[in-house]
Amino acid sequence: NRQIKLASRPTGEPKAENFDMVTTNIPTPNDHEMLLRTVYLSLDPYMRGRMSSAKSYADPLEVGDVMLGGTVAQVVESNIDKFAVGDLVVSNSGWQDYSVSDGEGVLKLDKNMENPSYGLGVLGMPGFTGYMGLTDIGKPKKGETLVVAAATGPVGATVGQVGNQYGLRTVGIAGGQEKCDFAVNELGFDACIDHKADDFAEQLKAACPDGIDIYYENVGGHVFDAVMPLLNAHARIPVCGLVAQYNATDLPDGKDRLSVLTGLVLSQRLTIKGFIIFEEYGDHYPEFLKTMSKWVESGDVKTKEHIADGLDNAPDAFVRMLNGDNFGKTVVKIADV
Ligand code: NDP
Repeated sequence: NRQIKLASRPTGEPKAENFDMVTTNIPTPNDHEMLLRTVYLSLDPYMRGRMSSAKSYADPLEVGDVMLGGTVAQVVESNIDKFAVGDLVVSNSGWQDYSVSDGEGVLKLDKNMENPSYGLGVLGMPGFTGYMGLTDIGKPKKGETLVVAAATGPVGATVGQVGNQYGLRTVGIAGGQEKCDFAVNELGFDACIDHKADDFAEQLKAACPDGIDIYYENVGGHVFDAVMPLLNAHARIPVCGLVAQYNATDLPDGKDRLSVLTGLVLSQRLTIKGFIIFEEYGDHYPEFLKTMSKWVESGDVKTKEHIADGLDNAPDAFVRMLNGDNFGKTVVKIADV
C-alpha cells in the first residue's frame, strides 16, 4: 500500500521534500468496516492550508500524516451491510492506494456512471461549492453581471454556468488565452479576460459596462484589486477562496488597500460573506446533486478534467494546480476500476 505523507511543512510553494512516499501493508478491515482501493484522487487548493499550522476552520495535518483528500474508490472487502464488493464510492481515503473506512461520510456512486471522477468535480465538492456560494450568497437576479476567476477550474466553471442558467451576464477571468477561449466557446461565458494581460484591469472594465453585481471570490490578489472599483451598489461577494495567497509568506507588495475596501463596503453597501461548503451547506447536497446531474446530463453544464497519471505524480500535479498549470478539475488516476 503506497502512501504519500506530509514530510515537513512547506514555506511558500510546496516542494518535493515536503512529501514522503512510503509503502506499508494493505490494512485489514474489522467488523463494520470495509477496505477501499483508490481509483481517483482529487487535488484541491484547500490541501495547501492543511499542510500549514496556521489557524483555520479545520485542524492542520500533523507531520507524518497521510495527505488528506477526496477519492473515488472501489470496495474490495466489506463488513458493512450497505456496501458490497465492487461498489464505487466517493470517500475521503487520502493520498494512498488502500484505506479502511467505517462508511461514515462515504457516498455510493451509481455503478453505471460513465465518469465516476465527476463525483470529485462538477457533481462533488467543488461543483457543490460553486452552486451554493452563487445561489445562496450571490443571490443572482436576471440581467445582473457576475464575475468569477479561476473560470475553467471546477468551482469557477460551475459558477459561470449556473450563472448562465440564472440569466446573468457572466464574465470569467482565467490565466491565458486558451483557457479564456474555452470559457467562452465551451462553457458559455459572455466574456473571459486573461488576468496575465498587461491591461487586464482595463479589459475587465470594458467587459463589465454596467459594473459588477456579484463577484464570486476564488483568488484574491491583483484580480480583486481590479474588481474593487467596478463593484455596484449592493454588490454581493461570496468569499470562497483566495488561492493567489495560499503560498504567500508575506503581505502583498504595494500600499495597504484595506481602507479602500472598507470605504467601498460602506459607500456601496457591499455584502461580503465567507463560507466553508460542508460547514454551512452540508444538508443541501442531495438537492444540489439532483439539479446538477440534470444539467450535466442535458449538456447545459459542461466540465473539463485535468487527469494526472499515478500516485507518485500527485505532489507535482498539486503544486502545478495551485499555479494554474491545470486546465480543468485536477484528479489523479491511481488505478483502473
Ligand atoms: P482550480 O482547479 O481552479 O485551481 C486553482 C486556479 O486558481 C488555478 O488553476 C489558476 O487558474 C487560479 N490561480 C492561481 N493563482 C492565481 C493568481 N495569482 N491569480 C489569479 N488566479 C490564480 O481550483 P478550484 O476550482 O478547485 O478552487 C477554486 C477556489 O475555490 C480556490 O480558492 C479554493 O480554495 C476554493 N474552494 C473553497 C471551498 C469552500 O468551501 N470555501 C471549497 C472548494 C474550493 P488560472 O490559470 O485560470 O488563473
